Amino acid sequence: MKKFALAGNPNCGKTTLFNSLTGSTAHVGNWPGVTVDKKEGVYKKCAEPISIVDLPGIYSLSPYTPEEVVSRNFILDEKPDCIINIVDATNLERNLYLTTQIMEIDVPMVIALNMMDVVEKNGDKIDAAKLEEKIGLPVVGISALKESNLDNLMNRAYEVSSQSREGATVLAGTQLMHLIEDCKIALKGQKVDNTLFHAIKLVELDEIEVTMHPESAKMVEEFKNTFSDDTFGSDFEAIVADSRYKYITKNYSSVLERNKAAEKSRLSRSDKADKVLTHKIWGIPIFLVILFAIFHLTFSENLLGIGFGLPEGWVSLEGTVAEGLFGEGGINSPGVFLQSLLGLATDSITDAIRGAMESGAVAEWATGFICDGVLAGLFSVLSFLPQILLLFLFFSILEDSGYMARVAFILDRIFRKFGLSGRAFMPMIMGFGCSIPAMINTRTLADRNERTATVRVIPFFSCGAKLPILIAVAGGIASMANIGYGDLITYGMYVLGVIVAICSVILMRNTTMKGDVPPFIMELPAYHAPQFKNLMLHLWDKLKHFVKKAFTIILVSTIIIWFFSHFAWNWTYLPDEEMNGSILASIGQLIQPIFTPLGFGSQLGAAGWVFAVAAITGLIAKENVIATFGTLAACIVAGFEANEALEGVDSLVALIGATGISVPALISFIAFNMLTIPCFAAVATAKAELPSKKSFRLTILFWVATSYIVGTMIYLVGSWWWTLFIVLAIWAVVITLIVLQNKGIIDIKKFFGKFKIKRRNS
Ligand code: GDP
Ligand code: MG
Repeated sequence: MKKFALAGNPNCGKTTLFNSLTGSTAHVGNWPGVTVDKKEGVYKKCAEPISIVDLPGIYSLSPYTPEEVVSRNFILDEKPDCIINIVDATNLERNLYLTTQIMEIDVPMVIALNMMDVVEKNGDKIDAAKLEEKIGLPVVGISALKESNLDNLMNRAYEVSSQSREGATVLAGTQLMHLIEDCKIALKGQKVDNTLFHAIKLVELDEIEVTMHPESAKMVEEFKNTFSDDTFGSDFEAIVADSRYKYITKNYSSVLERNKAAEKSRLSRSDKADKVLTHKIWGIPIFLVILFAIFHLTFSENLLGIGFGLPEGWVSLEGTVAEGLFGEGGINSPGVFLQSLLGLATDSITDAIRGAMESGAVAEWATGFICDGVLAGLFSVLSFLPQILLLFLFFSILEDSGYMARVAFILDRIFRKFGLSGRAFMPMIMGFGCSIPAMINTRTLADRNERTATVRVIPFFSCGAKLPILIAVAGGIASMANIGYGDLITYGMYVLGVIVAICSVILMRNTTMKGDVPPFIMELPAYHAPQFKNLMLHLWDKLKHFVKKAFTIILVSTIIIWFFSHFAWNWTYLPDEEMNGSILASIGQLIQPIFTPLGFGSQLGAAGWVFAVAAITGLIAKENVIATFGTLAACIVAGFEANEALEGVDSLVALIGATGISVPALISFIAFNMLTIPCFAAVATAKAELPSKKSFRLTILFWVATSYIVGTMIYLVGSWWWTLFIVLAIWAVVITLIVLQNKGIIDIKKFFGKFKIKRRNS
C-alpha cells in the first residue's frame, strides 16, 4: 500500500485533515503539541487505498524534543511515497519555513494550504496557482475542517507519488552553497541518500547529523574558521535560517493579499481579550473562577444558592423528573439534573428485573447477584457518566477556543519558579481526562528530569475515572456534615490534587530531579468559536471509552467482588446481612489495619473493611472503588436499615454513613485514592515512558508514600487540630534541610554514607 505522510507546524490542522481523510476520531486541539506520536489510517477514495500517517507537529527538521525526532525519522527513514505538507494559510510565512526544509529531501511532495475558510472569512486573498509556479510544487487550497477540496488534494498527491523528485533548496544563491555542494559530494561518496538534505544539516552543524558523519563535520568546522558574515559571524545555523526567511519574504509573500483593516480590528479584539485573560495578576484568579463555574454547573445541587423548601407533604416529587430538577429544595445544576434522569432510568430497569425474577421463582441468591450485585455495581458507576461528559464538554470548549493555551502562558511565569516550563501544563491538564495520553504527551518536554517529575505528578490531576469517587464521597460528606456544598468539596479535592502535585514537583526539582528549564516558546493559537464537530468527537471518545470499560473490567470486577462477599470460606452462600463473615470481609479485615493512620482502618470496626477492599480494587480501575461500594452497599444497607429501599447514589451515601466513618477520614480516603498508584493501564504507561526501571520503581514508591503521608496528615489535622503544629514543624525541618543541602552548607548524602560505613564496620 502507498504511504502518504502529513507533516506541518503544530496546530496547522494535520489531525483534522487526518480525521477527515480516514474517518478516524483522533484528538484535535487548538493547542500546539497535541499529537505526540504518529497515527495511521486509510484513505479509500483514490484508485487504490492509501495509508495516511499523521505526524507530530514540527517547526523545523532540527529536532529538540522526542516527539520532533519521531517526525524527522519518519520522513527520512520510512520513505513515504508522498509528503503532504500542511501549511496554515493564515500564517503563511512562518509555515513555509518548514516547507523550505522538506523540499530538500528527495521525496514527492504537495503543499496543502489549509484554513482557506478562515482566509476567506478574514477577507484575505491567496493565489495558490502563483505559489505553485514559484515554489515548483503542487499547491492545493483546502479546508480540513469544512472538508473542502480534499479529493483534489489527494488526486494531486496520488499523481506525484508515482514520479520521483530530487530535493531542491532555496539556499542556492547564498554564500554557503559551495560548502553545501562540497558536503554533498563527500556524502555521496559514502552512499548516503537525501544528500542535499543531509549536506545542509551538516553545514548547520545539526547535532544528529554531526554524530552521524563526524568526518564531514570536521570539514565544515575547518571552513568555519576561514569564514565570517557581517551579521552572524560564522554561525552557520543562523545564516541558513536567515537565508530561508529572506527567500520566503522576497519570493512567496506576494501571493498573499491581506485585508489590512479587517486584520487590524481582529488583532485588536484578540489583544483586548488577551490583556484581560493573560493579565499578570488577574489571569490566575480568572482561571480559577472559570474552573469553579464549571464545577458549579456540573455538580451543584443548588445552582442559584437559594433554597425554597416546598411545603411538607404538599406534593411529592419523589421518583419524578421534577425531583431531578429541584432536588433538595434548590434548583439543581444541569449535571445533577441529567444524573438524576439517568438514575430514574436505571432504577426502573433494576426494579423491573427484580420484579420479574421474584415472580419467576428464581433462587434468592440469583436475584441478589443480578440486582444487588452486578446491576448495583455497574449502575453506580454509570450514574456519573452525565456529569463526567458535561465536565469534559466544558474542558473541550476551553481548549478548542484557544483559552487553555493562554493558561499555559500565564502559568509559565509561576511554573518557572518551581522548575517546570509552561509546556508541562498541557500534559497536566490532559491528566484531568486520563493519565495515559497525558503521560505520553510529556514527550514534548525536552529536559529528562522535568519529564520524569511531570510523569510522576500526572496522576494527581484527578482523572475522569476518579470523579465518581469524588462526587459520591463528597456527597457523603455533605450529607453527614449536613451542608449543601457537595460541589465545593469536589472542587476542593481537585485543588488539593493540584497543590500536592506542585509541592511534589518543587521537592523533586530541588532534590533528585534537578535540571534546566528550557525557555518556553509557544505561539498562542488564534481564538475561535469552539467547533461543534470537535466537541462531539471528544465526547464520543470519552463515552466510548467509559462504556467499554464499564462492560469489561468493571463488570468482571463487580462479579468477582459480589461472589467473594457472598460466600464464606466453606463455600456456603451468605445472605446480605451476614456479609461480614464472607471471604472478602476477612481479607479486608486483614489489610484494614494498614489504613488505621489514615482514618479508615481498624477504628471503623467490623463494617470498615469495605474501605480497605475499595482502595485495593481501585488499583485495577479507579471506577472500581465506587463499583465496590455499589455492590456492597445494597447488602450492608440492608443490614442496617432493613426497611428502607435505597438505590443508586443514595445507597452509597447510606453505606458510608453506616460504617461510622468521620468526615476527616472520608477526606483522607478521597485523597488516598486520588494520590496513590493509579490504575493498571496508567502504571504500564508510566513504565514505558520513564527512562529506567529504577526510576519506575521509585515512582511507584513515590505514589504509595505520597498518598499515605497526605492521607495521614489530613486525618490527623482534621481530627485533632493541634497536630497541625507537628505537621508544620516536620515540614519546616525538611525544607530547611533541603535548602541547606542546596546551598552546600550540609551534605546529607555524606551523612548517610558515613552511617552505612559505620554499620558495615561494626
Ligand atoms: P494539528 O496540531 O496540526 O494536528 O492541528 P489540529 O488538527 O489539532 O487543529 C488545530 C486547530 O485548528 C483546531 O482547533 C481545529 O479545529 C482547527 N482547524 C484545523 N483545520 C481547520 C480548517 O480548515 N479551518 C478552520 N477554521 N479551523 C481548522
Ligand atoms: Mg495533531
